[in-house]
Amino acid sequence: MTTDPAHHGALNLALLRDRNDTAVLRAVRAAADRGTSRVELATRTGLTAQAISKITARLLADGLLTEAGHERVAGQSGKPRTLLRLVPGSRSALGAEIGRRGLRLLRVDLTGAVTARAEEPIDPDGGPGPVLDRLAAMVRALTAASGTGGVLGLGLACPGPLDTRDGVLHQVTGMPSWHGLHLREAVRTRTGLPVVVEKNTTAAVLSRPGPDDRAFVHLGDGVGAGLVLGGRVQRGARTNAGEFGHQCIDPAGPPCACGARGCLEAVCLTALRAGRTGEAADALAIGVANLVRLLDVEEVTLGGDALLADPEPYEGAIRAALAARLPDPHWQHVALARATDLAVPQGAAGLTLARLFG
Ligand SMILES: [Zn+2]
Repeated sequence: MTTDPAHHGALNLALLRDRNDTAVLRAVRAAADRGTSRVELATRTGLTAQAISKITARLLADGLLTEAGHERVAGQSGKPRTLLRLVPGSRSALGAEIGRRGLRLLRVDLTGAVTARAEEPIDPDGGPGPVLDRLAAMVRALTAASGTGGVLGLGLACPGPLDTRDGVLHQVTGMPSWHGLHLREAVRTRTGLPVVVEKNTTAAVLSRPGPDDRAFVHLGDGVGAGLVLGGRVQRGARTNAGEFGHQCIDPAGPPCACGARGCLEAVCLTALRAGRTGEAADALAIGVANLVRLLDVEEVTLGGDALLADPEPYEGAIRAALAARLPDPHWQHVALARATDLAVPQGAAGLTLARLFG
């Protein structure tokens, strides 16, 4: 068991929980290709030279850092400083997206770059057991093919509602047989990896840096939003913020899988099933304008398979709705960005990397 790379990674993660190790790793990562000296690390982290010396020796022995040349500091005599760099392939993290119709799995290196990926369709009506068995088989295949570099853990993103603190799903729309499932435990048992569970939209909003006030709007088999406000991700009291798809935009509208009527999600999905993309785009645009008026975000990233299959009508409708509905759209400018189809699993993998880098 100790030769299993996944197990090896899990042990290392436990060893690296020291906050000072995390601060040093973060400073080395920030220096990227240039490399950084021990003296510079002490300045950046506020740690003593002695502490830096001990920590970097440990990280070098563990393979996370490497010595990469020397630099001579202008105006200073004496020995040139040794530069340290992160070894991106020394560890990896996995990120998975459980959708209502498919699984996506990624492996990323320590810089977050994707090094392997796999995708498979699923049958959500078949219940969670076969889907999670399939996911575990994909994890085994991706880690077996990876060669060196222990796996730190698995970030797992899925549609809400769910409680990310205990990893339990609550009435996920369109997946009734998944209700009450202890997802984190079920996947941890099947893979032997440390597992972090997150809502798909929250993972996606964290998948890349952006302004302090931003949203990720997802249109796939459901509609949702991930939120970063004041530089902090917003999960809400029960980690369930961003159920954006269940705002009512038409009380007389179509019934929603959640039991209510006229939810944004129901209006969008009903229109899409009938091939009326323009109608779905107009409904989503009202939702986005409501979101901007409520939260004053300055960037909205659009993602999800249904939207990314034909993004222009959505972008056009949202621009038009923002211009029409904001009191002063020039002052309250909102940048629209387009996500890739990997935003959710990349954000999920990032949650595992965050355990290493803080
Ligand atoms: Zn609803």
